[in-house]
Amino acid sequence: MATNEKNHSAMNLGTFAALAEKGRIEIGKALGLTGCEVSFNHKPAGWVSPFQHFHKLNEEVYIVLSGNGVLVVDDETLPLQEGSIVRVAPKGIRAINAGDAGLVYLCIQAQDGSLTQCTGEDGVLAPATEG
Ligand code: ZN
Repeated sequence: MATNEKNHSAMNLGTFAALAEKGRIEIGKALGLTGCEVSFNHKPAGWVSPFQHFHKLNEEVYIVLSGNGVLVVDDETLPLQEGSIVRVAPKGIRAINAGDAGLVYLCIQAQDGSLTQCTGEDGVLAPATEG
């Protein structure tokens, strides 16, 4: 890392109303993410995914922020509402459909099995700063 390179990156998506017009925004490139991809998704009421998909390497976590819908994984249909969180393994064949309230959710994907530790081992208290 260059000595003048910042240790953070930031962006603002704008309002969720503006997000509704775009439908899906991936933020990985904009933020320079190296270990996962994160997308914000807004699907209008009644929206039905035009395809099912699975992944070669990545697991996905769907986090519902508002609205309702279903996530179909293999032969199961999981109801979604605000606060629903679902992890889908790479080989899970999935499709997400919005309900009558539309659906706003985050999807985080990362390579399955790539996390070998987390905060308990990785977080280090920084020296106290003065002032
Ligand atoms: Zn996917």
